[in-house]
Amino acid sequence: MAYKMLVDIDRCIGCWTCAMACKVGNHLDDDEFRVEVKTHGSGQGIDRPEGVYPDLHMWWQPIYKTSCTFCAERVKEGKPQFCMMDCPTQALAWGDDTDPASPYSVAKARVEEHGAKIWALDDAGSGTRASVEYARK
Ligand code: SF4
Ligand code: SF4
Repeated sequence: MAYKMLVDIDRCIGCWTCAMACKVGNHLDDDEFRVEVKTHGSGQGIDRPEGVYPDLHMWWQPIYKTSCTFCAERVKEGKPQFCMMDCPTQALAWGDDTDPASPYSVAKARVEEHGAKIWALDDAGSGTRASVEYARK
């Protein structure tokens, strides 16, 4: 049994609400983030797509850092993680990967049904948190 976060990239709109919710909820310092949202675009800024108009492309990927605790204290009290709770598109789902009724498993079944590819970052020495998966069609 493992508890995991699934990020549905096809739902992520790059709004950074997850990062801000974590910062405010966990009383983090101004320059501290436990999750940051990476833009996949031209590489020249968070709002710069790749390509030439009208063929423009960009997508976003919340990157969970090793400092993320999955809000262990809140979970103990039966409350959801700040980032997951405030995501406006319900792109985040967390739970027990062996429980078919957990939000993680339900979201995983949904994205698999839609033909999404699921992957994880190599967390070894990269500063990213283990047990985070991404799904994208
Ligand atoms: S995961 Fe949700 S809250 Fe975070 S950037 Fe994507 S859409 Fe916004
Ligand atoms: S799970 Fe909790 S600690 Fe981790 S990024 Fe989300 S709000 Fe922050």
